[in-house]
Amino acid sequence: MNKNKYETVIGLEIHAQLKTKTKLFCSCSTQFGSEPNSNVCPICTALPGVLPVLNQKALEYAIKAAAALNCTVNLYSKFDRKQYFYPDLPKGYQISQYDKPVASSGYLDLSDGSKVRIHRVHMEEDAGKLVHAGADRLHGSDYSLVDLNRAGTPLIEIVSEPDITSAEQAKLYVQELRLILLYCGVCDGNLEEGSLRCDVNISLKPKGSNVLGTRAEIKNVNSFKAIQKAIEYEEKRQSEILESGGKVIQETRLWEEAKGRTISMRSKEEANDYRYFPEPDLRPLVLDKNIVDEIIKSLGILPAQKKETYINQYKLNTEEAYILIEDIERGKFFDECIKHYSTNPKRIASIINQIVYAYLNENKITLIDTKLNAQRIAELAKMLDQGIIGDNVVKKDLLEDLFYSEESLRKICKDKGLEQISDEKAIKEEVKAIIEEFPNELAELKAGKIKLKAFFVGQIMKRFKGKASALIVNNALDELI
Ligand code: ADP
Ligand code: MG
Ligand code: ZN
Repeated sequence: MNKNKYETVIGLEIHAQLKTKTKLFCSCSTQFGSEPNSNVCPICTALPGVLPVLNQKALEYAIKAAAALNCTVNLYSKFDRKQYFYPDLPKGYQISQYDKPVASSGYLDLSDGSKVRIHRVHMEEDAGKLVHAGADRLHGSDYSLVDLNRAGTPLIEIVSEPDITSAEQAKLYVQELRLILLYCGVCDGNLEEGSLRCDVNISLKPKGSNVLGTRAEIKNVNSFKAIQKAIEYEEKRQSEILESGGKVIQETRLWEEAKGRTISMRSKEEANDYRYFPEPDLRPLVLDKNIVDEIIKSLGILPAQKKETYINQYKLNTEEAYILIEDIERGKFFDECIKHYSTNPKRIASIINQIVYAYLNENKITLIDTKLNAQRIAELAKMLDQGIIGDNVVKKDLLEDLFYSEESLRKICKDKGLEQISDEKAIKEEVKAIIEEFPNELAELKAGKIKLKAFFVGQIMKRFKGKASALIVNNALDELI
């Protein structure tokens, strides 16, 4: 696509499955991967004469998510029936929210400095799943099976304004939104299991124009990579249509992962008429402001705040901070280590990222599989900071003991002869002696020949047979020259 000629406009509709133990309107389990049709009851299979009862936890989670996305939680909202016919929808309608959603008018500040406004957040129930048995590419499926375990699972749909302007920004939006939902504890964010699903609305407009072009809505875009690729594909497809003087038609398209393309599903004329009307079996949702405020107060720390603390207070760089924030368990472990040793957070971050997780990932294990704990990381950081051992020995000689021994690291280092000479007084004296011994080199170093510092370090190390703490040697040298 010619970016000097066209601008991309994207709005995302994200369905997030709420992490409740039970479904939205009945007490069936939401457990993923259960035996097909084992988590069902008369309500979620739509037998006659049953009534839905709203899951309070789902409501609480929806409010939390909405607040974390800076939305106004509406004290009055209601449920509506959205009618359509499909074999995975036993009632023939879905209970959703139409004109009065639970929350509206929010925004998300992205870490690239951009802002994406959020139009609304509403609650709805999920449909079941069709399993196309015996499907093959040439002949399709002989028959299909319906699994209603997912029918009635609580979702929130988060609809953005058309504020997103590129594939990268769309991806970032989904990544950061996902992390917020994870931090709130309302969604497990598992894209592979379908706990987060994304529809991409995309159009092009002439550069600088403030009139939106006609959009296509792409369904079934279920990975970060697919989001990016589907958008890039549509940019190309739509710009080619416009370039050849044609018109983009409003339609729903499907992302075909295997072929890396989108194909038409249905045009606007064929669009479903959902014939929404208020759900007669549920009262309008009238919320008590105090209760809503309590729920919002219980939100806890969100990724953006955490990142700010890590960068501004702990002086981590953006990348270090991001790695710790992206992985909730890792971030928690970091916080715990800091509680035991707060002198040098950067040291803790580098131990956790470069030593601990490097080892865990390499061996495909987690912290629980080892004996390592926060105190031990604190002990290690302190020993490194004090120059008792050098950085180089940790990976080389200490790794197994770090993870699997319960003996004090200090003792292990002593027994293994890993300790360095860290007697500051003795080192300083030696540094003084060396400086006096090489007056010419000293003069050159002072005149700006920085390379000579290594020469001095070398000389001093020689005196200590390489066993002096490099940290203390360097500090002493800096102080005395
Ligand atoms: P629908 O319910 O038919 O999907 P909505 O008005 O709810 O329609 O819009 C759905 C999404 O489409 C929103 O995220 C919105 O930001 C986005 N959108 C609307 N118009 C455009 C457009 N011209 N180009 C790109 N995205 C758009
Ligand atoms: Mg839509
Ligand atoms: Zn049920």
